[in-house]
Amino acid sequence: MRVSLPTLGPTPPPATPGQRLAGDLRDTHGRVITDLRLSVTDRCNFRCIYCLEPDVRFLPKQELLHREEYLRIITACRNLGVRTLRLTGGEPTLYPELDDLIADIGRLELDDVAMTTNGWALDADRARDWRRAGLRRLTFSLDTLREDRMREITRSRTTVAAVLKAVASAREAGFPRPKVNMVVMRGTNDDEVADFASLARQEDLDIRFIEFMPLDSAREWGRQVVFTADETRAAIESRWPLEPLDEPNPHSTSVNWRFADDAPGKLGFIAPVSRPFCGACNRLRITAEGKIRPCLFSHDEWDLKPLLRRNEPMARLEHFLIDAAWNKQPGHGIGQDGFQQPERSMSAIGG
Ligand code: SAM
Ligand code: SF4
Repeated sequence: MRVSLPTLGPTPPPATPGQRLAGDLRDTHGRVITDLRLSVTDRCNFRCIYCLEPDVRFLPKQELLHREEYLRIITACRNLGVRTLRLTGGEPTLYPELDDLIADIGRLELDDVAMTTNGWALDADRARDWRRAGLRRLTFSLDTLREDRMREITRSRTTVAAVLKAVASAREAGFPRPKVNMVVMRGTNDDEVADFASLARQEDLDIRFIEFMPLDSAREWGRQVVFTADETRAAIESRWPLEPLDEPNPHSTSVNWRFADDAPGKLGFIAPVSRPFCGACNRLRITAEGKIRPCLFSHDEWDLKPLLRRNEPMARLEHFLIDAAWNKQPGHGIGQDGFQQPERSMSAIGG
């Protein structure tokens, strides 16, 4: 695997503290940004019904950032106090320079580097290389355990078996607790939540049940299709009582539970619609073409690409990021009067 240093701009400052205090990325509501979600491609080989329409048009290739530009962004964010990073997309494993980017990121000594994937292009050897290079955690998306539904939901040729094999490969490669995300939709897969809990028990998995958010490119989201976190938990607890897990991270979007009978596996419930957690949000998102989105539901974006293409110095990138973060909106406003779904789908933002 090739390991390369950034070629644009000045050499980044060392990761040791001293030059800047952590927490330079703040917003007007007193929140400090320490977590970056970076999309490395808008491309995807699936067309999940809650995310991407079949006839989607992806961005022209030249619009997407280069690896050196992603690395400069991550470096600037790190300089401003960001300590954790999640790579996402689109489908990040389709990004041709992913392996090299992960190796580059490993040199930045962040506290945590994670990636979310549909599991398509993952085998144990590749996962082992990522792990060695510093990727700490992998999250897989899987919304059904039934093969016929899998085709209907992902509108692709993937299989449940393939995703479960990818999860097993991640374990084999040294990712001790891969996570599985399930988006629960009423009338589509809500009858499977107990089956996922059963899988967590059998395989000692961390499953995250996510409420369907209005981020589908088809714009067919409706409140009536949201199977809430409380409903999901009730359906599981009718079979297996759960107990809350004490967890110290106030920024975690997931409320996590264990099985009361001490069975293996953990369950997390992410309730952005029924119980918004915006007040504790510490995230900034950057799209694959370099648009800063302080919130998933932002309507305003700050375009880093012109600065990157002009090879502006690191200090300019940092000030631009500081300005964008300052404008983070207080909350997503789903369910409030005047709420408008953003133009972009989840795949074009980076979930
Ligand atoms: N392609 C990768 C994958 O599917 O894991 C990474 C990108 S995907 C946009 C990131 C996460 O967003 C996935 O876990 C997916 O299930 C979730 N997601 C996509 N659209 C969503 C929506 N409308 N509501 C809630 N979660 C969504
Ligand atoms: Fe692709 Fe992930 Fe969106 Fe599914 S959820 S369409 S795999 S980006």
